[in-house]
Amino acid sequence: TLFNELGLAAPLLRALDEAGYTAPTPIQAKAIPVVLEGRDLLGIAQTGTGKTAAFALPILHRLQAKGGRPPRGGCRVLVLSPTRELASQIAESFRTYGTYLGLNVAVVFGGVPHGPQRRALSAGVDIVVATPGRLQDHLDAGTARLDKVEVLVLDEADQMLDQGFLPAIRRLVKAVPRDRQTLFFSATMPTEIGRLAGEMLQEPARVEV
Ligand code: AMP
Repeated sequence: TLFNELGLAAPLLRALDEAGYTAPTPIQAKAIPVVLEGRDLLGIAQTGTGKTAAFALPILHRLQAKGGRPPRGGCRVLVLSPTRELASQIAESFRTYGTYLGLNVAVVFGGVPHGPQRRALSAGVDIVVATPGRLQDHLDAGTARLDKVEVLVLDEADQMLDQGFLPAIRRLVKAVPRDRQTLFFSATMPTEIGRLAGEMLQEPARVEV
């Protein structure tokens, strides 16, 4: 399979070409068509398999195909991630793949001042990549709204649970519309993760690599 056989838009193919990607990895080949259809996804994959592009590419494709603007103070796509390093990497991947789409990406994590994040959120952003604790602070302070989220991604759900983020995740998910697309990734599937996935996903396709 090649990226252009997966139905991705030309601006994405151009960015992938420039990034030197020639063929999709197995998780990409399996997940991209499912996400392009708008289905929920349960992805069981480790870091290093190319899972970031497996969700970022079809999400970017759908955003540009639908058009539309992000809401003031909110976002259209929310990605939750366990650490600031991973959140930054994911945001960077969205920016790289989305170079020719003109979408904006903000990253939100703890341990740094709230002000710049508050200002980034206030105008509205297409894509927010966040660690759960700091995003919950913004939600509680009224400096972020999640009621216009169209796509919700949980990346490394098992790591987020290990970090004690389950209560924050539940609060955040309650603030996101039920009518959304949800992509749930975890390297492992212990009972607690399976239960959380079951609560969040609707008739998901399951992809394992
Ligand atoms: P990830 O598993 O998302 O952390 O990705 C692991 C690494 O693989 C990252 O450095 C990506 O830039 C790279 N990568 C992802 N997909 C591809 C691909 N199809 N071809 C070449 N490199 C890729």
